Amino acid sequence: MNAKAKSTSSSSKVHKADVLVIGGGLAGGTLSLALAQGGFEVATIDREDMAGWTDRGFDGRASAIALSSQRVLEGVGIWNVIHRETAPMLDIRVSDGHSPLFLHYDHEELADRGGAADPFGYMVENRSIRKALNVLVPKTERLTYFAPNEVVELERAKDGVHAVLKDGTEVSADLVVACEGRRSPTRDQAGIKLTKWDYHQAGIVCTVEHERPHDFCAQEHFLPSGPFAILPLPGTDEKPACRSSIVWTERADIWPIIMKLGDDDFLEELEVRFGDYLGEIEIIGPRFAYPFSLQFAETYIKERLALVADSAHGMHPIAGQGLNMGLRDVAALAEVLVEARRTGQDIGALSVLEKYERWRRFDNNLMLGVTDALVKLFSNDVEPVMLARDLGMAAVNQLPDLKRFFMRHAMGTVGELPRLMRGEAL
Ligand SMILES: Cc1cc2nc3c(=O)[nH]c(=O)nc-3n(C[C@H](O)[C@H](O)[C@H](O)COP(=O)(O)OP(=O)(O)OC[C@H]3O[C@@H](n4cnc5c(N)ncnc54)[C@H](O)[C@@H]3O)c2cc1C
Repeated sequence: MNAKAKSTSSSSKVHKADVLVIGGGLAGGTLSLALAQGGFEVATIDREDMAGWTDRGFDGRASAIALSSQRVLEGVGIWNVIHRETAPMLDIRVSDGHSPLFLHYDHEELADRGGAADPFGYMVENRSIRKALNVLVPKTERLTYFAPNEVVELERAKDGVHAVLKDGTEVSADLVVACEGRRSPTRDQAGIKLTKWDYHQAGIVCTVEHERPHDFCAQEHFLPSGPFAILPLPGTDEKPACRSSIVWTERADIWPIIMKLGDDDFLEELEVRFGDYLGEIEIIGPRFAYPFSLQFAETYIKERLALVADSAHGMHPIAGQGLNMGLRDVAALAEVLVEARRTGQDIGALSVLEKYERWRRFDNNLMLGVTDALVKLFSNDVEPVMLARDLGMAAVNQLPDLKRFFMRHAMGTVGELPRLMRGEAL
């Protein structure tokens, strides 16, 4: 991939690091940059060839990045590389089936005393973040990527961590951080139990081009099978705001049938849900399906081990919060570790890692609970429940203080924010 990224080699010398990060994806890559910039020697392992991933392995996903998460990406340098590939979310419109009642968030409503209002956040394709990692990793001192590679042996002892990689390289560190996504072998090997349930739904994900501009408005339309989201992406120079990412939720018995439809039939089904408010639509690129489930680890830490992002918690994307919560973990863990080193503590000690867990676990559990309740409330066509939720949305729309509170939540600027999320240096 690059001079700093080590692919396979036959050398078996020990690479010494302070932190071993397993999984160099969106969360792991951001954490690796933050820690290296914070003065730690970091060794990051990813089983994917990162350079190839951005094109060959495009997974179709785009993420709604809240304003506070954008600040983290800015703090580590990713934003500078990707900002031209992002679209701001200036409005959010939530509607329910065919009900005329809806909820509309306008970022202008949060403008302070006539000043310019920040957007709620930005839409960014996940591959843009990967591409930025490819640009930044070689330039970042103290950071070495081992990719494609995997840990085949991991030993956590009182005095440190020792790993053997697939190519024979050995890595020693004070702390190992698992950022392996939902299926985390490091979490499982540490004996950390996982609670999990299935929503019996999947998100069909694709990208569309449309005739009229989206005006940077994110739409979430609740249909009986689940949410149908139309999320603004940047367009081309000729048609600047005419591309959107679709996350179309369908029940487990329906989504495989839809995925197998021919292109014309698929487009016809999509148009029924999309409507014609943006004119004609055209599907660009492949479609993907992601089964939805909820999961959380019983603990985020063990001696010399921390779990971060999806390895610790996986939620339904109904509120677009999985990566946002993961980036909060990243910012909090980086801050705890920098503080521990500054005060001469062992960064792998349980007493240090407990600060990270106390900071993040409650907040993540709250978000898991909120997203779970939203799924149950909105994937439901029982008359009284539909009426209650429509009246609830209309009420929030009419109550400016409550509405502003929800809007700040959407921006991710509520709660005890780590320094990187406040736009400050580590
Ligand atoms: C349809 C959909 C839409 C979503 N939309 C949003 C959204 O709008 N906003 C939002 O905040 N979140 C959203 N999410 C959630 C978001 O995508 C995830 O929370 C995020 O990708 C988690 O990042 P991660 O780095 O923890 O895991 P991943 O992105 O899964 O990355 C894990 C990395 O670890 C590597 N890896 C795995 N195992 C190993 C191993 N054993 N050894 C070495 N490397 C390994 C993988 O190659 C990969 O690079 C959405 C999710 C879905 C499914």
